[in-house]
Amino acid sequence: MELTPHTPLTQLPGIGEARGKKLEKLGLRQAGDLLRYYPRDYEDRRQVWTIRDAPLETKVCVRAMAAQAPALSRIRGGLELVRVRAVDHSGSLWITFFNQSYVQRAIQPGEDYIFYGTVEQMGSRRSMTNPIFERADRQAVTGSIIPVYPLTAGISNHLMLTLARQTVPLCARQVRETLPAKLRREYQLAGAEYACQTVHFPPSFEELETARKRLCFEELFYLSLGLSLLRGRRQDCRGIPLPPAPLEEFTKLLPFAPTGAQRRVMEEISRDLSQNRPMNRLVQGDVGSGKTAVAAFAAWRAVRGGGQAALMAPTEVLAEQHAKSLQALLGPAGVRVGLFLGSASAKQKREARQALAAGEIHLAVGTHALLSQGVDFQNLALVIADEQHRFGVAQRSALAEKAQTPPHVLVMSATPIPRTLALIVYGDLDVSIIDQLPPGRTPVQTYIIGEDKRARMYNFVKKLVGEGRQVYLVCPAVEEEQNLKSVKAYAQQLQREVFPQLRVDLLHGKMRPREKEGVMAAFAAGETHILVSTTVIEVGVDVPNAALMVVENAERFGLSQLHQLRGRVGRGGHASFCVLVTASRNPDSLARLKTLAATTDGFKIAEEDLKLRGPGDFFGSRQHGLPQLKVADFSGDLRVLRQAQDAARAMLEEDRDLSRPEHAPLLEQVRELFSETPGIFN
Ligand code: ADP
Ligand code: MG
Repeated sequence: MELTPHTPLTQLPGIGEARGKKLEKLGLRQAGDLLRYYPRDYEDRRQVWTIRDAPLETKVCVRAMAAQAPALSRIRGGLELVRVRAVDHSGSLWITFFNQSYVQRAIQPGEDYIFYGTVEQMGSRRSMTNPIFERADRQAVTGSIIPVYPLTAGISNHLMLTLARQTVPLCARQVRETLPAKLRREYQLAGAEYACQTVHFPPSFEELETARKRLCFEELFYLSLGLSLLRGRRQDCRGIPLPPAPLEEFTKLLPFAPTGAQRRVMEEISRDLSQNRPMNRLVQGDVGSGKTAVAAFAAWRAVRGGGQAALMAPTEVLAEQHAKSLQALLGPAGVRVGLFLGSASAKQKREARQALAAGEIHLAVGTHALLSQGVDFQNLALVIADEQHRFGVAQRSALAEKAQTPPHVLVMSATPIPRTLALIVYGDLDVSIIDQLPPGRTPVQTYIIGEDKRARMYNFVKKLVGEGRQVYLVCPAVEEEQNLKSVKAYAQQLQREVFPQLRVDLLHGKMRPREKEGVMAAFAAGETHILVSTTVIEVGVDVPNAALMVVENAERFGLSQLHQLRGRVGRGGHASFCVLVTASRNPDSLARLKTLAATTDGFKIAEEDLKLRGPGDFFGSRQHGLPQLKVADFSGDLRVLRQAQDAARAMLEEDRDLSRPEHAPLLEQVRELFSETPGIFN
């Protein structure tokens, strides 16, 4: 059989129906799919040691001769043990295999083998347990750098390695070079064939670096191109210009004077809205910087200009909070606000939909329920997405599609993105930054404590509640049943044993929306003293009387996430505190937490997070709706990112929509990268 990139994997030896299904789960169907199925790690099995010189506590290759026939024994529970002694000129190595009785026949006395495993030492006796082994004259899985692939149940790394060896060299030879030669020269990038082959089978780690650089560059280059094209396309698009309106007419409605930063951003938005090209703007502002007022301004402008506006929030709790405060703020200006929640009754939904379609509701506030079929606007002019990191590009555009003419789009985010990444993550948006907090805020004081200070922390909680304040206590995300049980038990324990005089309540993501709402309402009304919660309260919730945020297992959270949590307190002019509880002794974790304690500047924190954890977090979770990047992990390599951005910019200056025939392959690559992001390039 002749192997081609299109050969189904099930036609390869050893791959039956069942294995084929499992491989499919990993996205592997044809021989060619393996090429871009990159290793997640590598094991250096090049160096071969003698028994005496082999280092301990790390996996190594040792060459030794089987000194005797392996001996099989059975111990309790039917466990099978195979023992064999191996020797070289420097000493003996005692090797044990558990439940691998075939080894008894596979190892021949007098034959030389390479054993790959961890050498342990007891007294002067050296041993190895369950090593990988092969004959020294037939090295296949030792003697080189071995790729370690992401796996799934029933698919071993050995199988992946075998498959990659059969397919990668052939498919790499046929891979098309899509990066222009000029670019490769300018940025010193390896060729496509070399990079694809080497990333699987690197002769050295230096060569691996060269290969990875090329692959990272390629991916980021196409991503940058795609995002810039989106931006360009938007500039060609016609929208609904809204008539100008004096800013003062709006600020009169506010119970406070806007900060300079809020005013500046409102003016930026104001200018966008008057254009006949739709606005596409991101407002970034640290927690508590007052983004709601800015959103309210945009909505007011849209409605005043005769259009409707929609505001989409990530949770029902937030949507309700927004609806209430926007109705209070804009009601006096004649704006009618409607609420759209998935949990509403059929009757409520029907009524709200009718009012919206008839133009009686001017501003629709809701969750993704706003995207549902049957939610129709009479004249949608503006879409606002709050806390955008929970929404993707696709959801934003799904809402925009409910308008006849492309509406203006405003995205609000409290997750500061490091400047270095902003262009990538928000490549298709213009960015405004609210870089000033309303006056009278006292910065939140942050402390890191270990278990030994827990009792003191509980006393501090009592003291603050005694002064009339309220407290959040956050535990790491609840996904598994097990974990949820322990959070519930913890809340109960706090209520019964630690704070019997106070009211402790629990909020978690598995609760029904109505339940959550009840819990939040009781907390907002000051009836609950301590709210034990998972991270569902992370975004947006505003209870000014809350003055202490306690985070349990703080080391499990990302810095930016902790910063968000901390932003829930310090909103009411009371002295406010954030206590990070951790039992971790890991110096990296502690360093991260210290960064948070040292600054309240969200941008600095984001930069630090980026430095410490790499950009993976910003891309990895798909939270931005960007295409998933495949290059295993390009952490730290911001230089490549910048180069790729520069190259994309230069390319588009030359050919702004990649319409020249010689750029057709580039456009095709961009399409492919974005192929799973619906409605963008197809
Ligand atoms: P975020 O940017 O986190 O969404 P909010 O819009 O919820 O912040 O505002 C946080 C709090 O600050 C709210 O209670 C809001 O009323 C108040 N606020 C916003 N702007 C100002 C201002 N210019 N002066 C005083 N208080 C303000
Ligand atoms: Mg907000």
